[in-house]
Amino acid sequence: MKEVDGSRINIPSDVEGDSPDEVADGGAEGSKSKKKKKKKKGPKAKKANVVKPNQGKIPDEIPPPPPESPDETARWEKELVKGAKTHNLPAWGLLEDRAKPILNIFRTPSCKRLELITPRLRLRQCEVSDLTGVRRIKTEPIVQKTQLDRYGSPGISEIKDSFLTRYIRSSIPRVSNIPNSKGRDEYIFAITALDPSMLKVQDPGQVRISNRISTAEGYLGNIALSLTYPTSSSSFSPTKGRVYTQPTFEQMHQNKVEGKLFYEIHPQLWGQGIMSEAFEEVLRFGMEEVGCDSIASDPTTGNEASIHLCVKNGLSFSHETNNSYNKPQLFHRITKEEWWKRNRPDKGIEDRWGGKEVCRWCMNFRLAPPTISCKYCSWAKYCSRECQRADWVRTGGHQAECDVNETS
Ligand SMILES: [Zn+2]
Ligand SMILES: [Zn+2]
Repeated sequence: MKEVDGSRINIPSDVEGDSPDEVADGGAEGSKSKKKKKKKKGPKAKKANVVKPNQGKIPDEIPPPPPESPDETARWEKELVKGAKTHNLPAWGLLEDRAKPILNIFRTPSCKRLELITPRLRLRQCEVSDLTGVRRIKTEPIVQKTQLDRYGSPGISEIKDSFLTRYIRSSIPRVSNIPNSKGRDEYIFAITALDPSMLKVQDPGQVRISNRISTAEGYLGNIALSLTYPTSSSSFSPTKGRVYTQPTFEQMHQNKVEGKLFYEIHPQLWGQGIMSEAFEEVLRFGMEEVGCDSIASDPTTGNEASIHLCVKNGLSFSHETNNSYNKPQLFHRITKEEWWKRNRPDKGIEDRWGGKEVCRWCMNFRLAPPTISCKYCSWAKYCSRECQRADWVRTGGHQAECDVNETS
């Protein structure tokens, strides 16, 4: 696929040598591209200087759930009592059978609901069943040899604990892996096809037999927006006694919250603009919905595909950083002002979600303001009973901070 004058046309991927999509991995796990030198032909060749505003859109707010019946209320209130057993998500073995009941309580329907849609892709939250897809990419030498970190050849338990656990945990913002986290740390999306038959799965070539795919079904790769809060930043996490509200663009700006993009995709899908489509949309999401003050990516030197992706999307080179792997990284960044000017030239910066009341468990700001309140305090609000229960039975969660402790 190539984009010409805002519309997409199909071009066989084998002639699409300048595609920005031969990107195994971005950011700190950067890769080397296999970019081919290709002669430009005619007016339809790459137009480097034309800025095409981002076509993505903020979706409508998702309406609240229907009111519950008295029976349902009674049933939930029986569970939400003082002294109910609390749980922690284990640091290891999160995906093992014994941890599943806890994961199922903490990972509520609203946590899983956050997804982004592009013309060809559905970027959704990761699932336990994505393990095979993650393994195919993480153990593939073609991908590995281009990566910054040396994973060696990770075993399946390592893939579960180091990667999939983190991907899945990211969908539950209140159980962050990061100590003293100041707010939501990352959004990690599984890349999937809206219609797998629309994506071309290329000949496997050197791809290991056990890592080959024959269709574009299921997990194809991932893309993450990781947020960095400077040490001086205020906290954006829900606090005792306060209704939780979505951070405003102004607060994000004052605290200089920066997003960083990381990504990888199965090598048999390189070369058809898939990562480019995902990158554009996650960049839009980070700017237009999350309200990052800036967003960065730091491909390694020589990773032409990734560098092209940055430049094409208006991220400009700021500096080179070194790492212990002796592969310098080229730090690229775009500020909030630059992104809006480039992509929304006709309107000023608009903060769609900032300041609204948001569920203090799933923190999913695309949902209607929470309609469920804790029975004992007016400030703990949730989008659903499932989210309320998750916060209630988390060790150190709402049960510990609730006003019920002061009245009894
Ligand atoms: Zn919720
Ligand atoms: Zn309460």
